[in-house]
This record gives sequence, C-alpha cells and structure tokens, in this order.
Amino acid sequence: MSVSTVEKDPAELTCTPGPAAGVEVITPREVPLGGPRAMTVRRTLPSRARSLIGAWCFVDHYGPDPVAGPGGSGGMVVPPHPHTGLQTVSWLFTGEIEHRDSAGHHAMVRPGEVNLMSAGRGISHSEVSTAAATTLHGAQLWVALPDHARDGAPGFTHHAPEPVERPGLEARVFLGSLLGVTSPVPTATPLLGAELLIQPGASVSLDVDPSFEHGVLVDTGALAVAGTPAAAHDLVYLPPGADHLDLQAGPDPVRVLLLGGPPFGESIVMWWNFVGRTHEEVVAHRAAWQAQVEGGPDGSTYVDGRFGVPTGDQRAPIPAPPMPHVRLRERR
Ligand code: MN
Repeated sequence: MSVSTVEKDPAELTCTPGPAAGVEVITPREVPLGGPRAMTVRRTLPSRARSLIGAWCFVDHYGPDPVAGPGGSGGMVVPPHPHTGLQTVSWLFTGEIEHRDSAGHHAMVRPGEVNLMSAGRGISHSEVSTAAATTLHGAQLWVALPDHARDGAPGFTHHAPEPVERPGLEARVFLGSLLGVTSPVPTATPLLGAELLIQPGASVSLDVDPSFEHGVLVDTGALAVAGTPAAAHDLVYLPPGADHLDLQAGPDPVRVLLLGGPPFGESIVMWWNFVGRTHEEVVAHRAAWQAQVEGGPDGSTYVDGRFGVPTGDQRAPIPAPPMPHVRLRERR
C-alpha cells in the first residue's frame, strides 16, 4: 500500500547523494494522509537532512492504529493511483491489506510477508485493509529504480521469509542478505531489508556489507545503534565503511527494520507517486495519469492508458494534485 497517495498537498521533493559525515538520528514528522478519519503516518525519508539510504527513498511508519470505533482510523482505503520509476515495499506488523494492480496481480499483504511491486515505466494499484484488520501497524517503503531498470515492465513479488534465530535475536530477511540468509526477491540495485526482534537487554553484532549505508527504523523499544541512542520511531542513518553493526537493546523488547544498500549515485526527482529524473518527466507522468482519470473525449472516466487499470477494482481513481508553481529539484 502506498498510504502517501492520499496526502492532500504533497511537498516537492528533490534527492541528492550527500557526504556521509557520520551517524544521524532522523526523527519523524507526522503526515496526515487526508480523508475524514484518515490515519497519520510518521515519515523519516525523505527528510530535511537526507533523501536516500541506498536506493531506499521513502519511509512511512504507522500504527498501531485501531481501525474500528471512536478514534479508529476507519482502516486503509487507497483507491487506484499510479507509480513510476520505483518499487513499493509493503511490510506489516499487524493487520491485513488487499493489493490489486494493473499488471493483474491480486495479493494480500500480511505480517511478516513482503510484497514488492515494481512500477517500472508505469503501474496503477489500490490498497484496502480487509475486514480481518482490526489494527493496522506497519511500514510503507519505496525503492528508487536505477536508470537501467526504471523503464522496465511492471511486476510484483511476494515472499514470506523464514525467521532466523540467534541468541537474543529473531530476524526476517525480506530483501538481500543477512545472517547467512539471502532473500530470493530480485532487486535492481543491492539492497538489504530485514525485521529484527531483539530481546530486552540483548546485544547483537551483525556482519554487514561495508559498501552499504544503513538505516535502522525503530518500531518499538529503545536501543543503542552503533553506540548512538535511539528511541521508538527514529530512523538512524549509518554511513558506509563498517563491516558490522552493533545493536544494544534497552530494558524493553525492541523491534526494528534494518534497511541498506550502496549509495544510489543517481539524482532523482520525486513528486507525489512518481520518481523520475527531471521536472519535465514528472509533469508528463502527471499528465498521462490525469488523461486516464479525466477520461476520453466521450466524457467517460478512468480510461486505460500508460498506467493501466487495476484488475477487479471499480473504485474511482485518485486524481493527481496540482503541480507546485516551482520547478521540482533533483535529490541525490
Ligand atoms: Mn501506491
């Protein structure tokens, strides 16, 4: 699911690979996603200080949010919307979300199982929490596709990793390699994605690829990440250069997502649900989507086009917001 897509006024975002001076603790900003009872997410990427960690370019963290009752979010209902140039990586701690896309994929997003959707040159999809989801808790992540892959065919991969146990640690490696386990999910650039459960007070030292930069998104608990204190909801950035990562849990159980990859090395332009390379490209993506949303000359709405129509979803699509009145800037 791409919860960002219902954001009313998406900021213009530009990405640039900056010098990795050292460890950074990125605190989240709260982003309301719109709608009458909509949920609010905690966004740590992109942030003022950092746009990318490897190819990871978007980190939204949400919940646990009750779905029903007073104060409930009403669940997640994200009608059809487009993407280009990125992969969405959906990871749930609690709940269930139904995914449908224009490449014909229909899948359930469930806790502990990764769903990776490649937009490539263009896809549209919808994400709706199911009646089984009384609480929603998870992360919506995006990966920027490199130049050689960003105009490729759309695709979808599901994988349920076997948990790996070590003293004080349980890990689920959903992308890349960690603890001698390699995810079968193919990626366009080297990536790491894993959920780690660390017992209270436990110290864990993980062998990692020194060419990778890493991000540790703290879901629950407090810990020291390479000696730097981090609280729930922080994203801790670690520059390349270390061949191991030390995690020291505080007095409560800790759950984190560990993300990584080599510095991306390409500039991207990110706006709404699109990742491109130039302002003009994003303007063209928006126009192509609006042509579908606004329909053909006969006044019909939601016609097929560059992004297709999700199979089996009759909901009205989400129109793109107006472009900002300034040029979109590149981010590295
Ligand atoms: Mn989406």
